[in-house]
Amino acid sequence: MGDAGKDTVLATRGISKAFGALQASDAISLDLKAGEIHAVIGPNGAGKSTLIAQICGTLAPDAGQVELNGEDITALSARGRARKGLGRTFQISALAMEDTVLQNAVLGAQGAMGTLWRFWQPALKNKALLARADEALARVGLEELRNIRTSELSHGQRRQLEVAVALTLRPKAFVMDEPMAGLGAEGSQRLTQFLAELKQEAPILLVEHDMDAVFALADRISVLVYGRVIATGSVEQIRANKDVRDAYLGDAT
Ligand code: ADP
Ligand code: MG
Repeated sequence: MGDAGKDTVLATRGISKAFGALQASDAISLDLKAGEIHAVIGPNGAGKSTLIAQICGTLAPDAGQVELNGEDITALSARGRARKGLGRTFQISALAMEDTVLQNAVLGAQGAMGTLWRFWQPALKNKALLARADEALARVGLEELRNIRTSELSHGQRRQLEVAVALTLRPKAFVMDEPMAGLGAEGSQRLTQFLAELKQEAPILLVEHDMDAVFALADRISVLVYGRVIATGSVEQIRANKDVRDAYLGDAT
């Protein structure tokens, strides 16, 4: 375990990744502590999604490590990391739109339990899977909608369902890439409120463009520019930081 403290749940240590001549991640070291929302912000192309992909295991870093509760998980696949308790929601929805809300949640629970089912039907009849899926749906307030087709959900409800799918893993940490994307003002507000509660269950590393949401939610903010963390601090510290204002925030403050 690193020296970042025993309340560190998730950490990157010197994560680096180049695409040809482009240094998309430049020795990124971040930590996520119990109970917090740590937001990662930065301009388009700064390397936020690339960082998330390396944390979640869909992209291998050139150098550096990812640790979950002090354990080096860098060698694990995305699925292996999920089973260890890394809960992810995607920038682009990974839901099966033609399936029902419940089916999507059960699929998540299935992945969590590590059982390979060949057919859909047995999974839906499996009581343990169903219980876990229903528990997650209730947690995000979608239990009433469990039998409708996912394509009929609003954007905001789909985001909630994505969180429910992640919750079926009983995650130790959440990693979210732009969960507010595509939501209207009301949807963003609702999700903001929900994430503020969710962080008590598991801390959230949050990549987000919506600065209102970030300023409302973040316990700490890190600013990524050209693959490098140029500042980490509280909302107040980041808003007052001259380098950050020059590089990114501009008038947003
Ligand atoms: P952000 O999420 O902050 O907008 P990204 O992580 O998506 O930024 O991209 C960071 C940089 O890496 C961008 O310049 C992007 O074009 C580049 N990039 C991302 N993925 C790849 C890839 N698979 N191959 C080549 N370049 C990539
Ligand atoms: Mg991105």
